[in-house]
Amino acid sequence: MSEDARDGGPAAAPRGVPRAAPSEAQLAAIYQELILDHYRRPRNKGALADADATAARTNPLCGDEIALAVAFDGDVVREARFTGRGCSISQASASMLTGALVGLTRPEAEALVRRFTALVHGDAEAAADASLGELRALQGVSRFPARIRCATLAWSALGEALQTLQARPAASGSSG
Ligand code: ZN
Repeated sequence: MSEDARDGGPAAAPRGVPRAAPSEAQLAAIYQELILDHYRRPRNKGALADADATAARTNPLCGDEIALAVAFDGDVVREARFTGRGCSISQASASMLTGALVGLTRPEAEALVRRFTALVHGDAEAAADASLGELRALQGVSRFPARIRCATLAWSALGEALQTLQARPAASGSSG
């Protein structure tokens, strides 16, 4: 077998730009729009009367405040809501968090906290993790270290809320 490269070389030459791959600038614009949308129309904002775990965080550097409340059905998050005020990144991050959290078990929620924290600190593997969904809109924060705290504020509160749950004895399985 001879290595034969006479016929025009390797077939790697792109014949067109795939439409499915937006440029970095386009992606940044899409992500920016998503963040602003969550900021203007926050999801799951308000009090949660029957919360199983709550925690609050402030970010004095930016003036952000987040209070998070989570209600469980057994070991699964049934509902998550937040109250607070602050910059668009802090509020959008909290809004996205409450949406991403519903349906997760406690260990899954803890894993998501770690994953998201890695994402906004510039972790390349997390940035490529499609399971993070729209949360990836906040990956650009990694380029602005002063804003990382804004993005992680709600997640830090979630971590604390989950820890207060763990301090309790595990819920015994419901029988029927
Ligand atoms: Zn902020």
